[in-house]
Amino acid sequence: MSDVYAEPTTGADPTDPATLARYTTLRLGGPAGRLEIATSADEIVRQVREAEAREQAVLLLAGGSNVVIGDQGFPGTVVLIRSRGFRVVAEDGDTITVRVEAGEPWDDLVAATVERGWSGLECLSGIPGSAGATPIQNVGAYGQEVAETIVAVEAYDRTHRTVVRIAAADCAFSYRGSIFKYSDRWVVLSVDFRLTRAPLSGPVRYAELARALGVEVGDRVPLADARATVRRLRAGKGMVLDAQDPDTWSVGSFFTNPVLERAAYELLRERAADLGEPPNWPCPGDTVKVSAAWLIDKAGFGKGYAGPEGVAISTKHTLALANRTGAASTAALITLAREIRDGVHARFGVPLHPEPVLINCAI
Ligand SMILES: Cc1cc2nc3c(=O)[nH]c(=O)nc-3n(C[C@H](O)[C@H](O)[C@H](O)COP(=O)(O)OP(=O)(O)OC[C@H]3O[C@@H](n4cnc5c(N)ncnc54)[C@H](O)[C@@H]3O)c2cc1C
Repeated sequence: MSDVYAEPTTGADPTDPATLARYTTLRLGGPAGRLEIATSADEIVRQVREAEAREQAVLLLAGGSNVVIGDQGFPGTVVLIRSRGFRVVAEDGDTITVRVEAGEPWDDLVAATVERGWSGLECLSGIPGSAGATPIQNVGAYGQEVAETIVAVEAYDRTHRTVVRIAAADCAFSYRGSIFKYSDRWVVLSVDFRLTRAPLSGPVRYAELARALGVEVGDRVPLADARATVRRLRAGKGMVLDAQDPDTWSVGSFFTNPVLERAAYELLRERAADLGEPPNWPCPGDTVKVSAAWLIDKAGFGKGYAGPEGVAISTKHTLALANRTGAASTAALITLAREIRDGVHARFGVPLHPEPVLINCAI
């Protein structure tokens, strides 16, 4: 079993100022008003309903790998999502549908699918957190994103106080977004993924991954090779959680890659004329995605750039802001994030937006 999640200590005082830092990969976040643990979908719904009956705000927290929680913590009820398991719910030829409980550690699931010869998630290896959080920001990496394999999400609708099944087409998946992100309405209980029984991966889409595998973009490779190579590439960038490596005490990428209108992209090119063509990827609707890491680096914030209290840009990846001593405050992290955002805007005129969900703090 994955060691991603900290389990609560029986009898621990949730109002201890260090409480939520224990449950986030940044090791940041203040006290909780109340801390509950939910080990099944029924318990998740019950805990949410009971908090509502107490008229308390609710924070759902699973792996804590995509949240920045303020130093004041969260005064309401924090529900730790710890439901586990997955099962095949439909089979049709080589296509299978797997239903995964929200709290199942994501990388354990990916490992299990690769072992069983189920293709579809292999390039998402090594991403921390829970399966239930993957639809929230349409988790993606190395040319794959969960929107390609999710067929439905089972969720508790807090507005209508009922459990619903939401088809993928109604999830409004986009680059690092969905109807679930920044919404308190939905509590994800389980996710259905449609996978293919196949010994080989889908076509490799990401040039860096293809190079590392020694194949051409578009080729397929054995599932286990795809997984091992993705994990190796990620580890080299501090993008696989490692308790011994402070570069991984982060939320992964702190900023999303900006998607610019064509005119804004041309302005960026002018402002970056001395630096050559900014790395870019054409997107639908004549928009262009640009590399946040490149913008940050070229604005003068290189790997290892330090902010207050030991927070710093990872020494392995320009997009990750890490609590490298484990002793910083959220305020310090936010100070560094603002400095970077403002510096990039001043140099290139491009706004950067945070990828994680910010709770009781803002940049
Ligand atoms: C080292 C590192 C590398 C990363 N690499 C990637 C990457 O390559 N690609 C990528 O997309 N992300 C990446 N991430 C970000 C993160 O791992 C993912 O977004 C992950 O899906 C978050 O899962 P979690 O369980 O930790 O969510 P949490 O951090 O616990 O929660 C994130 C948000 O989702 C909400 N939430 C959690 N569970 C539920 C639920 N069951 N129902 C409703 N809302 C819920 C929370 O309230 C919060 O708003 C990385 C993070 C780290 C630390």
